[in-house]
Amino acid sequence: MAVTHQHSCTLCEATCGIVVTTEGDNVVDIRGDEQDPTSQGYICPKATALADLHHDPDRLRRPMLREGSGSGATWREAGWTEAFDLVGERLRGIRAQHGKDALAVYQGNPTAHNPGLMTFGQGFFRSLGTRNLFSATSVDQLPQMLASLLMFGHQALLPVPDIDRTDLFVCIGANPAVSNGSIMTAPNMRGRLKALRARGGRAVLIDPRRTETAGMVDEHLFIRPGTDALLLLSLINVLFSEGLVRVGRLAGNVIGVHALKVAALDYPPERTTGVTGIAPETVVNLARELARTERAVVYGRVGVCTQEFGGIASWLVVAVNVLTDHLDEVGGAMFTTPAIDPIPLAGMGGYGGSFDSYRSRVRGLPEFGGELPVATLAEEIEAPGPGQIRALITSAGNPVLSTPNGTRLDRALDKLDFMVAIDPYLNETTRHADVILPPTGPLERSHYELLLTLVAVRNSAKYSPAVFPRGEDQRHDWEICLELASRVLGPDQKLLRGPGWLSKAALSKLGPEAIFEVGLRAGPYGVRKLIGGLSLGKLKKHPEGVDLGPLEPRLPGRLHTRGKRINLAPSEYLDDLDRLRGRMDSWAPGELVLIGRRQLRSNNSWMHNSERLVKGKPRCTLLVHPADAERNGLIDGELAVLSSRAGSVEVPVEVSDAIMPGVVSLPHGWGHGRPGVRLRVASTHAGVSINDVTDENCVDDLTGTAALSGQRVRVTALEPAAV
Ligand code: SF4
Repeated sequence: MAVTHQHSCTLCEATCGIVVTTEGDNVVDIRGDEQDPTSQGYICPKATALADLHHDPDRLRRPMLREGSGSGATWREAGWTEAFDLVGERLRGIRAQHGKDALAVYQGNPTAHNPGLMTFGQGFFRSLGTRNLFSATSVDQLPQMLASLLMFGHQALLPVPDIDRTDLFVCIGANPAVSNGSIMTAPNMRGRLKALRARGGRAVLIDPRRTETAGMVDEHLFIRPGTDALLLLSLINVLFSEGLVRVGRLAGNVIGVHALKVAALDYPPERTTGVTGIAPETVVNLARELARTERAVVYGRVGVCTQEFGGIASWLVVAVNVLTDHLDEVGGAMFTTPAIDPIPLAGMGGYGGSFDSYRSRVRGLPEFGGELPVATLAEEIEAPGPGQIRALITSAGNPVLSTPNGTRLDRALDKLDFMVAIDPYLNETTRHADVILPPTGPLERSHYELLLTLVAVRNSAKYSPAVFPRGEDQRHDWEICLELASRVLGPDQKLLRGPGWLSKAALSKLGPEAIFEVGLRAGPYGVRKLIGGLSLGKLKKHPEGVDLGPLEPRLPGRLHTRGKRINLAPSEYLDDLDRLRGRMDSWAPGELVLIGRRQLRSNNSWMHNSERLVKGKPRCTLLVHPADAERNGLIDGELAVLSSRAGSVEVPVEVSDAIMPGVVSLPHGWGHGRPGVRLRVASTHAGVSINDVTDENCVDDLTGTAALSGQRVRVTALEPAAV
């Protein structure tokens, strides 16, 4: 008998509502849930692949133990007790012998979509007390979080474009038509962009590639990768020089305006145009338009963050919004009011963030949010001495494919004394593990969107029970983390963060639901509303989700800075401007630089084992502008060698004027051709990994974020093999 379940797609940040139809153990249909208040029936092609993920014969369902090493390694299934015993004994022993920092953790991007990992996982990993915590944050949004910490006092207080009410959307280094928003949960961005233009608004895209989003906007400007900070400084220069600065309601809370004005003096559009590739008059017009449009917003995303000057550029995105009176205003960059709200906890002794409170052992890269930049992970494993990483826990991550110089990390992982992966697949990273502990899949666990409601374009709350019950012999990731905490730290160890005041037995029984319940009742729509306040019980009666209304002005109340001030000119950024100026002055025409690209049917490294998502023309191609192709003797469809200091790959060339001259683009997440993985579909559509070319030494010196965009590369035609 067919049964329907309202749920959420947790494959990306958009978190679209879905209706899953099942018959027995089978998923027979997945479609968009028209009742979901945020997605209103929209889904992208990836949602239906949740069924493939659920039924995937390659998905691990029992713990796996590796026997032997190298090419002679074999795997055998084991029971949970045997696997936990082994992991507990090895991690405990290494920690006792070599100290806390000998254990490292890498958490991948799917953590953000998994409330069990966001609560119990964080609790366990941080309780280990190691400095060697790493995550996908440092190959992604770290600079945006740093700007929030330095300017608003909380690393998670992230401004979100009020896309449904803005009249001017200036989008830099993002492809929301494909991503459906990032740090901007916005399902159906194509529909939202159409609506913006239909109401007379304008959308402008600034990107080195004419992306899918470019087809949805009024104007697309090519910009040279890594130069967004220069463009933004020029915009600020024009705002000041033409007397267009208007801070508005928050003027009494904003400091540093003069210092920012002085900082921008050196960057008139005429000076930066040669490097950015954007004409001075275009910059002037854009500054005027931003200043004169009542509802406008500048939004920068991954291309702005993952580059040599991601820190400065992310700061300046916020600064432009403040200077044009578009911060915390309707149609501008606004803040959410999530039903479970962690932000006020920072004012009650909770955690609001940290930066540079310590540095990495080998290269001295700064800590952020209690984590070190992942660009330094391989050398921290390789370099002997106190604090050397000897054991690694990976959770929902594949850093061999997703972090810079994956080839080096691939080799370094073999040098570990022990590795355990909490992961449902035997992939390019987990093949190095001694033990793989596979958690339940997305349809086998309940869901409440804890994190992404912090960055959604509309306030809402939704709880979804699991579509399929957890099998007797399966474990949720939060259960795995709880058990590991007990094994490694001792059964009486309290988890430092999250649900730290309850015993392991109580936590096992309550699960994440207890946290949702407490969070909802304590939140802004909970007990304070007395009658009809939000609770888990209420959400269970509304499986489609509850709409909590549009974003509302939240400042200055929500600020966590001293005196509730927003500093427009933090010294960390001002001190880094010399480095930017040096780069501008040393820029040389003729450099060929690399950028990544996101694709609609792909999500980082982890959706390539679904036949329906990878079929068709090979998509892992190197986009090359016709002029660069001609200069380098490259032919459309033929193989080229893409290389850097870090390494090289052979990849088919796609000649296209959708990429600007001097830039080549390779999508990220591919490269499934390594031996020993168990991904039958992905292996036959392997592609190559961009991170076999990206250099781990190229980072934003300020933040330690990997500078994945804008690295200098060489491209040559592949010489036919000598016979
Ligand atoms: S955009 Fe696609 S992958 Fe993302 S949540 Fe929606 S349906 Fe899922």
